[in-house]
Amino acid sequence: MSNATELIHGIPVDAQTGAISVPIYQTSTFVQEAPGVNKGYDYARSGNPTRAALEDIIAKLEKGSTGIAFASGLAAIDAVLKLLKSGDEIIAVDDIYGGAFRLFTHIYEKFGITVQYVDSTNADNIFNAFTPKTRLIWIETPTNPTLKISDIAAIAKIAKAQKCWLCVDNTFASPALQQPLALGADIVVHSATKYLGGHSDLIAGLVVTKDAELGAKIKFIQNASGAILAPFDSWLVIRGIETLHLRVKQHCANAQAVAEYLENHPLVDKVFYPGLPTHHNHAIAKQQAKGFGGIVSFTLKNDTEAAAVKFVTNTKLFKLAESLGGVKSLLCHPANMTHKSIPAEKRRAAGVTDSLIRLSVGLEDAEDLIEDLEQAFVNKEFAIGNRNNEENGETYGYGAHAQVLAAKL
Ligand SMILES: *Cc1c(COP(=O)(O)O)cnc(C)c1O
Repeated sequence: MSNATELIHGIPVDAQTGAISVPIYQTSTFVQEAPGVNKGYDYARSGNPTRAALEDIIAKLEKGSTGIAFASGLAAIDAVLKLLKSGDEIIAVDDIYGGAFRLFTHIYEKFGITVQYVDSTNADNIFNAFTPKTRLIWIETPTNPTLKISDIAAIAKIAKAQKCWLCVDNTFASPALQQPLALGADIVVHSATKYLGGHSDLIAGLVVTKDAELGAKIKFIQNASGAILAPFDSWLVIRGIETLHLRVKQHCANAQAVAEYLENHPLVDKVFYPGLPTHHNHAIAKQQAKGFGGIVSFTLKNDTEAAAVKFVTNTKLFKLAESLGGVKSLLCHPANMTHKSIPAEKRRAAGVTDSLIRLSVGLEDAEDLIEDLEQAFVNKEFAIGNRNNEENGETYGYGAHAQVLAAKL
């Protein structure tokens, strides 16, 4: 059976009523027959049938034993960090999600947990950073927003040898493309706000563990700390997941077309997309994932904040907003938005330069998206501010470039 079929039929039909959509159990408590005698649920922080259905679905999708649903991606990350104690060390990818960096630095360092940030695209850097206190390796692949790829299987081998946990933030790939637990990771986290939810209409987070014992520890943390996902939001994530495979396929096709367009654009300096053969770890991406995802980042030849701000306010279909993974295309300027909490030198050193623009390529027609980017480049004000516009004496008319590229799609 294909993954998509297995997924769609893995979503349970309600045993009591036959409802084909998972019912929303909007309740705080459950009536007991006698103290401790109940139908599997006693209080909705500890367990709720709608949330439990989602937790089972994500565990199956990620090929793990235990799924645990949280009120946000950061609450999911926070729950994993709570496995650690004072004195423990983390080795984390240097291009880490800004919110995770803020949580590690401003909350957990206060409690005596230290973090070393390394370039995990070379697994040796992780090996070399180990100390006897290292308990957790934290990677994202692809990373946000420079789409760096790390070799999950190689890093998992190192983690196993050093007896420490490997956690992969799988938000960008989604389980439709990449299943880190099958490659040897111990824990997967998701911001389900992104591709799993898929419609830009909720905030949610998920953790999946390979091992049931580790899963029980995180379930304990979920109940003890209380950052659970509400029943309605659990239902929305389930509804999103029903079309995950279909959506992700189209996100990938559109992103590939947009990345190829940008790579040939005279005003663009670098394009970051794992699906381009020029990407630094294209071969590993191809090997460990079924596709390259819907996120494309690029820098301008005019590498200034002003040029980037002009560009991101010129697009019409690509809406200027944080977040990603929804049906509508979004774009953002990480230096000013998602990565604002990372100090400028650290940010630039990780490749998030001043003109870097991140696209979340949505489900519109690729030709329309390319045309939108094209009109943002040729917009008079943007062009005047950009010295490289008439490079090589190229005459640059509205839509001409887009039409040439659309013909290739
Ligand atoms: C958005 C995001 C998060 C945080 O998730 P929230 O749902 O916003 O709390 C974590 N990791 C990655 C890679 C993200 O894109």
